[in-house]
Amino acid sequence: MIRPGQTLGILGGGQLGRMLALAAARLGLKVHIYTPDADSPAAVVAGACTLAPYDDEAALAGFARAVDVVTFEFESIPARAAETVAAVAKLRPSALALATTQDRLAEKDFLNGLGLPTAPYRAVDGLADLEAALADLGRPAVLKTRRFGYDGKGQAMIRPGTDPTDALAAIASAPAILEGFVPFAREVSVVAARGVDGAFAAYDPCHNEHRDHILGVTRVPAGLSPATAEAALAMARAIADALDYVGVLAVEMFLVEEAGGERLVVNEIAPRVHNSGHWTVEGARTSQFEQHVRAVCGWPLGSTERLGRVEMTNLIGADIEAWAGILADPHAALHLYGKAEARPGRKMGHVTRVFPEG
Ligand code: AMP
Repeated sequence: MIRPGQTLGILGGGQLGRMLALAAARLGLKVHIYTPDADSPAAVVAGACTLAPYDDEAALAGFARAVDVVTFEFESIPARAAETVAAVAKLRPSALALATTQDRLAEKDFLNGLGLPTAPYRAVDGLADLEAALADLGRPAVLKTRRFGYDGKGQAMIRPGTDPTDALAAIASAPAILEGFVPFAREVSVVAARGVDGAFAAYDPCHNEHRDHILGVTRVPAGLSPATAEAALAMARAIADALDYVGVLAVEMFLVEEAGGERLVVNEIAPRVHNSGHWTVEGARTSQFEQHVRAVCGWPLGSTERLGRVEMTNLIGADIEAWAGILADPHAALHLYGKAEARPGRKMGHVTRVFPEG
């Protein structure tokens, strides 16, 4: 167990690391960020930073020696970097959880091994594979790189008229999977935590609306039937238990509405705190960031009780220019990530509003 006053190491220096660092500081921990990015939103709120690339073995080992437990806020960390750190310090979640969830093929195989529903999929390592997969799964279908995809990057939709060669070119012929198209009505996610002792605590499922493949708005409650909400939480728990997971994870799901009722399809697992959990800072008894810190330190998990009806809106690119108006809204809680440049598509901050239930 980690004690207040000891040091949490975080691999990754983005806004998730920043909000983790703030939560850790409130609980009396020191924070050391490892990032290759000189302009890091997390490093400016942490006491220590190692500025080095993820393939710098000496820097990784030095970082791991300087801290008491290590976590990550970014799942595209090379497996080798995770292993280097794990050889020296406690890494939570584990290198295995990271490896399983950072590769879409390994992740889908894992989910299917647990008997959880996913889109039908095939591995694609070139044009012949893609043509065979399209013959099996039909169109439309979604070609996704196995690794390094986020916010719709590394993806190509294959419609009836799409030339498969163009789709492969769009993902630079990277190792990929083809997924059958899921005709979903809505996208939902479950943010949950598992402790070192196997304790499990989930927040209420969230309803997520995307704009240009980027999360736009999260609303909680998600409006699921009680049975579907329960099924969503059970899936998240099965995933966390099977990975012997420690920390917060998010499971993104598609809700499919059919004549016989609604069903869930698991889309992907994020082995970290997640944008669809930002609402928990004002909207739940314990924020996802504090919950993650508690879990990776071996501390008791906090209450996930929701404090009202919650809406979280991302501020993307030029949206940040509305900051002064948001501050003037007494119902709005504004979070800004301290990024210098508001490029289109870049997550600059978010705003949360909590309303009385009903
Ligand atoms: P992902 O990066 O896997 O979260 O995918 C990004 C977005 O693309 C999702 O949020 C969906 O809106 C859409 N999408 C991804 N996979 C599928 C699929 N198999 N069927 C339909 N839509 C999909």
